[in-house]
Amino acid sequence: MTEPAAAALVRPPLLRPTLHTRFHIDFDWWERHGREYRVYLRSHLCEQHQAEFGPEADGDGRLLDWVHPRTAQVSHLDQLQYTLRSHCARQSEYLTQRTSMVDAVFRVFIANGNQPLTAPELAARIGRERQANTILRALAGRRVYKGMRPFQPDAGIEEK
Ligand SMILES: [Zn+2]
Repeated sequence: MTEPAAAALVRPPLLRPTLHTRFHIDFDWWERHGREYRVYLRSHLCEQHQAEFGPEADGDGRLLDWVHPRTAQVSHLDQLQYTLRSHCARQSEYLTQRTSMVDAVFRVFIANGNQPLTAPELAARIGRERQANTILRALAGRRVYKGMRPFQPDAGIEEK
């Protein structure tokens, strides 16, 4: 390091999230709590891909690898995410007014590659501009919805 790093070493205090706080999907959280992650992720697939990925996860929420039907290559949720982003997220039924708020916000993050966004930005993306405060309350509350949490750029460093 050539520059003084003192400022970077000071961990910012956990501030109460505001409308300026950016959120994202915390995949570490999913690793710790999200046994049903792939089942949930799969639920965002379009009809065509629901059929293609097949019902290989059983009812206990046990997670199985996805085997590509043609290449027999086994992959993990990367393939699911790729499919979601490259196809399903572009379908008109991906985000509708009937999609629950939490699901809709989650789908925004899947579609944008989990780039952190503020509550007003999320509200705009899901076409519910007036719900920014509702989204903020949901994402900033004690209960973590689907692993969506405040984005802290340096939070991952000490966890690894
Ligand atoms: Zn699809």
